[in-house]
Amino acid sequence: MLREVGGVAIQPRHLASCHCGAVVLELDLPNGIEDPRRCDCSICRRKGAVVASVPLSGIRVVKGAEHLRLYEFNTRTARHWFCGICGIYTHHQRRSNPGQYGFNVGCLEGVNPFAIADVPVNDGVNHPADRVEA
Ligand SMILES: [Zn+2]
Repeated sequence: MLREVGGVAIQPRHLASCHCGAVVLELDLPNGIEDPRRCDCSICRRKGAVVASVPLSGIRVVKGAEHLRLYEFNTRTARHWFCGICGIYTHHQRRSNPGQYGFNVGCLEGVNPFAIADVPVNDGVNHPADRVEA
């Protein structure tokens, strides 16, 4: 977990917004930014976003729910949301852990995701849900 990024303290409650501001999320981040990472799966490699984790109860859409668009593919387990106006990815419900959302750290107000040191890249090409138990 990360309680501070580039000298900016991560408050327990944080606002995140898309680029145009139509969509605003309120996040509970009691432990700061947890598990920030990038991923090389087919969708994440195109987004390139630094993504962190919250439980499903940790995100509320406080503005612009009607602008959120849902994208699903492959097994249609994961649910990827983005702003229908500016196209920015805001958050997604995970396939690997449907009890969690991943969210776009770049949408957090006042946080520079590139100020987070050593963000690991998740092996999304070999998705845990695709691995065959030996
Ligand atoms: Zn937008």
